Amino acid sequence: MKVLSVASEVHPLVKTGGLADVVGALPGALGAHGVEVRTLLPGYPAVLAAVETKTLHSYGAFFGGKATILEGEAAGLQLFILDAPQLFDRPGGPYGANGGDWPDNWRRYAALGKAGADIGVGIVAGWKPDIVHAHDWQAAMAPAYLRYGGATELPSVMTIHNLAFQGQFPAAIFPELGLPPAAMAIDGVEYYGGVGFLKAGLQAAHAITTVSPTYAQEIRTPAFGMGLDGLLNLRSDSIHGILNGIDVDAWNPATDRHLAATYSARTLGARKANRKAVEERFGLTRDTSPLAIVISRLTWQKGMDILVSEFDRLVACGLRIAVLGAGDAGLEGALLAAAARHRGRAGVVIGYDEELAHLMQGGGDAILVPSRFEPCGLTQLYALRYGCVPVVARTGGLADTVIDANEAALAADAATGLLFAPDSGQALVDAARRLARLHAEPARWASMQKHGMRTDVSWENSAARYAELYRSLVAGR
Ligand code: ADP
Repeated sequence: MKVLSVASEVHPLVKTGGLADVVGALPGALGAHGVEVRTLLPGYPAVLAAVETKTLHSYGAFFGGKATILEGEAAGLQLFILDAPQLFDRPGGPYGANGGDWPDNWRRYAALGKAGADIGVGIVAGWKPDIVHAHDWQAAMAPAYLRYGGATELPSVMTIHNLAFQGQFPAAIFPELGLPPAAMAIDGVEYYGGVGFLKAGLQAAHAITTVSPTYAQEIRTPAFGMGLDGLLNLRSDSIHGILNGIDVDAWNPATDRHLAATYSARTLGARKANRKAVEERFGLTRDTSPLAIVISRLTWQKGMDILVSEFDRLVACGLRIAVLGAGDAGLEGALLAAAARHRGRAGVVIGYDEELAHLMQGGGDAILVPSRFEPCGLTQLYALRYGCVPVVARTGGLADTVIDANEAALAADAATGLLFAPDSGQALVDAARRLARLHAEPARWASMQKHGMRTDVSWENSAARYAELYRSLVAGR
């Protein structure tokens, strides 16, 4: 079984969020199920600098310039790289620079989708996939190009990592996409009078997946559907909720080189050295009160405004708080101000720091994740693996992966964390109070940590589900 995975970011080459982790980790896990994955990604400067490449195909004129499809290998991934300098050879992040998106993102990611569809129909000599698997709006035009290019037989999968990002553009771009006029229709790429990339992919793909069972239900409701709930309801028979796993080798407290001290569920005492390192890094007073960490994009989705509003009350509950994040300038400023108000009790590091994220998971007592919605969420999975108790909003993948420490779960010795109602400051504060009470009972706390660490957060089960889905699509051709 050969699968072409199409994505705009892949860990460890280019990453802005959980999408990259998933696209980077899934191929390795699928190998054990007899699935060979090759990943197509854009030739950003960082990618071309990191990968030794060979040219497989040259386009003459391709979305405003010359382009080539290169082949290479990095971090155990078999890659196709769309090298189109006029689209991807730019400084800054993958989607823009200085906080703004590139104005031609529609062209950049239409090109990615077209290249994916071309590889799907065999443009590259010697390798033709059985399935094309597109991730998020940036890759979503691949199924649409397959559909309108007449390759409707080739099964395609569209995965929604976050429905909030849809790739919506004005109708004026349509003539530049190279699609037949009939595609500009309600059952095609047209979306509220413009062009919707994700919408086009959801319409064209043979199967739709999203990254947790709860989110698969939530996106069919107006509250979470972001305008696409109608379409998703029509396609409900084709939607599958498959939880993300994590890379359990990169995230292993027993071998993690970013920790001050490695440990296992049997040597939880060793976490103290990591806790001390976190306390020092964030300028926190050293004591026995619970150390709550936050590792997050600083956005409304993640409930970071709620964290800001309730910061003083959370500290008053007895928590010390260490925040690592970057995002909205207003939230960055508000968090820095909150830390300044609570010197010694709270610290904030603004920025993206993978190593520090590992250390925090290894030293924090609990991680706070107050998201308003969360397709899957990865930080709570890392936390489970690291014995850092997840305290999370009851939504999406957070609800699917954490077992709340209610009386019944505690009595049955099954709890792994705390769940609270999303979008509520009071619920977050109540959860912080429960956290502080439980933390004061060392035996119960250690039991939660150990249960969390035993939770299977690997790709094992999920990879099996993807493999099963691929097989059913190929069989149903
Ligand atoms: P999303 O993809 O919506 O941002 P996820 O929880 O699925 O949320 O994935 C976030 C990923 O990014 C995790 O790997 C997390 O550790 C990482 N991350 C987020 N913010 C930071 C940061 N400031 N520094 C380091 N890692 C971060």
